[in-house]
Amino acid sequence: MLLHEFMWARGRATPDRPAVVELSETGELVSTSYGRLAELSDTYASALAEAGLGIGDRVVIESDTTATAVALLLACSRQGITFIPVSPETPDQRLRNITDAARPALHLQAPRGVRTNLAEPIGTARFGTHGITVERPPLPSARPRREVVETDTAYMIFTSGTTGRPKGVVMSHRVTAFYRGMLAEGMVGTDDRVATTSPLQFDFSLLDIGLALGSGATLVPVPRQVLYFPRRFLGFLEAARVTHVDGVPSIWRAPLRHEPELLASLSALSGILFCGEDFPLPELRRMQELRPDTRVINCYGATESMAASFEDVPNPLPEDLQRLSIGNAHRGADMLLFDEKGALVTEPGAVGEIHLYSPSLFTGYFDDPEATARALVPDPLDPASGRTVLRTGDLAHRGEKGELYFVGRRDSQVQIRGNRIEIGEVERAIEEFPGVTSVAVLALPRADEELALHAFVVPAPDAGTFSEPALAAFCKKTLNPYMVPSRFTVLTRLPVTSNGKTDRRALAAQTA
Ligand code: ADP
Repeated sequence: MLLHEFMWARGRATPDRPAVVELSETGELVSTSYGRLAELSDTYASALAEAGLGIGDRVVIESDTTATAVALLLACSRQGITFIPVSPETPDQRLRNITDAARPALHLQAPRGVRTNLAEPIGTARFGTHGITVERPPLPSARPRREVVETDTAYMIFTSGTTGRPKGVVMSHRVTAFYRGMLAEGMVGTDDRVATTSPLQFDFSLLDIGLALGSGATLVPVPRQVLYFPRRFLGFLEAARVTHVDGVPSIWRAPLRHEPELLASLSALSGILFCGEDFPLPELRRMQELRPDTRVINCYGATESMAASFEDVPNPLPEDLQRLSIGNAHRGADMLLFDEKGALVTEPGAVGEIHLYSPSLFTGYFDDPEATARALVPDPLDPASGRTVLRTGDLAHRGEKGELYFVGRRDSQVQIRGNRIEIGEVERAIEEFPGVTSVAVLALPRADEELALHAFVVPAPDAGTFSEPALAAFCKKTLNPYMVPSRFTVLTRLPVTSNGKTDRRALAAQTA
């Protein structure tokens, strides 16, 4: 099944139902039906073909998540054209790095897009409700291919690099196996309105589009200028009658802090799905206090397979809960743990690295066979078989029922004076200190080059009693001595990347 075939499978039969509800430039909510979206997508597909693009060509789609952008990426899928989604906020230099690496034939932006300095030979074009206007034609390409096949590249995502340097993750149409596994979770139905909050360059937005359209539901993109202001954000969710919100945990931080009553009063919201990083437990507890009936789903995974698992957060959270479960892989996939020597880890509590068995694994990192070989490794259970699995770099352990608990990244384990420390464990201990809402711990080199732990802590606005010495004393009581941070910095908020995850590099830079 190809990407667009999956996306249209439900909506095709209901052309009058809303596929996308979005905020117009004049501030009204406008609806695009499945029928209109299909028409638009057909127009784009013809225009792309007319511009000389076909199977194997690559285009950059620079856009927010909009009905037209969705129609365009579906048109690309149909034509066998690889799309590389990029957000309008992307700095020029980063876009240049992407285009230098990926060598796209065409850059497409919305009519109001302001990107101007794309160097030749990249063609340039605008897309909107009228169709596609080519400004500088793409170079013609030789085209021996006739039929789009599942192993063709559907899209490429340049990751934000929280897990290493930015890489071009090449994803084929087999990602539809992930989408089908996701739908089997039964998270949304045709009447749902699914808010999407991640920028288009983050594949979480593609997950949202698949969840909404694949279910025959309605996608509701939340504009940036709305998302960053808690009152506006919550007002928008209510006005658009959103039932389900997808996003990284940080989108809830300001609403929980500044607009708890408004958050509690949302009338249609019944489900929240988060992905990308841990949801700090104090914030999750607060969410459950305010919205006891809202289902919260922890989605775990990486760009290399779009995602891997969905697990309901227990409601209410047990008092003594240490960490959230990420469950087990979605239907059609499997996750196993292996130790450093490649031996299977099964006993509860023992930590191993997550290896993902899935038909929707990425094809490779663009133009980087070495990095690809480090991530797509021979199946440790049967290395001679020739099959490969995804070595995620994520450490986890199993619970009594076989469910998985994410512990941290392999590369976030640090050695300090001979002691192995899992940074996430220190963070979770600090979260338990009354009045802390979120925390990030970094291992940073001191003047003598020895690593030392530095905790960045965000107290709740009403945490009057919060004091650093008390927190340090608490850490000394609850953590092994070598795990106690030697420095604490109190912040009003943690910096986040353009994808909304904790920006550890920015924190490290603050101390440099
Ligand atoms: P980047 O952050 O580099 O842009 P990804 O978005 O692919 O790249 O990041 C995937 C990583 O994020 C996973 O390997 C894992 O470490 C972390 N992650 C994803 N989902 C969760 C989750 N639900 N809980 C904890 N960590 C998560």
